Amino acid sequence: MFSYRHAFHAGNHADVLKHTVLIAILKHLTEKDAALTVVDTHAGAGLYRLDGDYSTTGAEATDGVAKLFAALAPAGSAKPAIENIADKLQDYIDMVAGFNANGQLKVYPGSPFVTQSLLREEARDKLKLFELHPTDHKALEGNIAQLKAGRQVAVEYKDGFEGLKSYLPPPVSATGSRRALVLMDPSYEVKTDYARVSTSIQDCLKRFPTGTYAVWYPVIPRPEAHDLPRRLKTLATQANKPWLHTTLNIGQGPEMDEVTVPGERAPRPGLTASGMFVINPPHTLKAAMQKALPQMLAVLGRGRGKGWTADSGG
Ligand code: SAM
Repeated sequence: MFSYRHAFHAGNHADVLKHTVLIAILKHLTEKDAALTVVDTHAGAGLYRLDGDYSTTGAEATDGVAKLFAALAPAGSAKPAIENIADKLQDYIDMVAGFNANGQLKVYPGSPFVTQSLLREEARDKLKLFELHPTDHKALEGNIAQLKAGRQVAVEYKDGFEGLKSYLPPPVSATGSRRALVLMDPSYEVKTDYARVSTSIQDCLKRFPTGTYAVWYPVIPRPEAHDLPRRLKTLATQANKPWLHTTLNIGQGPEMDEVTVPGERAPRPGLTASGMFVINPPHTLKAAMQKALPQMLAVLGRGRGKGWTADSGG
């Protein structure tokens, strides 16, 4: 069974990138009246405590959302470290702040909560969540139940790649159009996840070519991880659809520069970089991320290797 638990990673730099892009897409898609269906194929537990047992939860947030808050939303009368915070970064900060009273960062909203908070009851937007880890599925169900969102949100204990198929194409809205956003955010704990993502996206583009598809992936020295954005680019190009590929690399932490005792294993780096690949992105997203990413990096960047990219095509 799976050993990955998102609670260990909640609010890290990868979540900052992923959720900033997710919020930007959702804000754009909910500008139109027509109903939106959002499918989150790998939902996690939904909500995470950042002030729990620090050795298990919250630790990675210190290099992510906590650092961002300290710099850009400082307590009291202190000034943010950056003037003119980019709109999309401010939206992310506001989203997380909305789940935390009095500027105290205690809770981190995962993608299900980020998404649900932006859905509209009157438009009949819907959120379909898949989670396959029994503990996280149970936690997700409990967290979602507290929202009392009724039929707006459905939680399924199923394989997200498979379950997704039953929602594409999405239902026709009252205005006659079909609209969907799919977030695909596997843990990549098993390396077959990389191939499953590209096969699934290929299938999605056949079932519903005009949907917006957002895929998160880790930038790690593994051929499958390296190939994934290239394959997605090929799929988008073959389907004649526009795409946007953003990456954030915070660089190595100080512990990686330490001289290690000869013969001892060097300190193992944590994840330093990740990417979000979006097919059919909002047309405004690239320019908006080109403003947000350098600010993210200015706050979260550490050392060697740090940088950001925003490439597009189609
Ligand atoms: N999307 C979440 C967020 O942004 O808050 C984080 C999700 S976490 C990176 C990936 C989750 O997918 C884990 O909770 C894992 O248990 C779950 N998972 C792994 N394989 C799955 C599958 N085939 N279908 C559904 N969920 C799966």
